[in-house]
Amino acid sequence: MKRIIIIAIISICLFHLGSQAQDTTSGTIFPKGTKTTANFTGTVWVKTLVPIDSTFHCVVGTVTFEPGARSYWHTHNAGQILLVTDGTGYTQEKGKAIRVVHKGDTIICPPNVEHWHGAAPGSSMTHISIIPNADKGVVTWLRPVTDQEYNGPKAN
Ligand code: MN
Repeated sequence: MKRIIIIAIISICLFHLGSQAQDTTSGTIFPKGTKTTANFTGTVWVKTLVPIDSTFHCVVGTVTFEPGARSYWHTHNAGQILLVTDGTGYTQEKGKAIRVVHKGDTIICPPNVEHWHGAAPGSSMTHISIIPNADKGVVTWLRPVTDQEYNGPKAN
């Protein structure tokens, strides 16, 4: 009887440890990578998952923006696909209202359209970035997104 109780207690402890380990990684599918400051405002983490090469011509990475953090305005010569994997964020194309995006949303950034992407003020945001035909150029950085622009009208 004692043995069964001990086994039961150990099982409960292991289960508890297991669920704790899961909790600390919830929302984190890929490694966060390293902090970067160039061409971003606020705290941003970048991890390259697929580097440019001559077979796929495609750059894939994950970017995590802490609340309020965002990229500078920029363009992609061949466009970009963003898959939001966690949190809530903002994205905006020049001349349009800000689109609020959530985990599970897809963002298409057409070639050579000025835009930016980042986290909402009260939430972090993580997205996968896919840049196809990367031999045409990956990114051209422009200027920071001002607080006025970041706090501008939302489309949704
Ligand atoms: Mn972009």
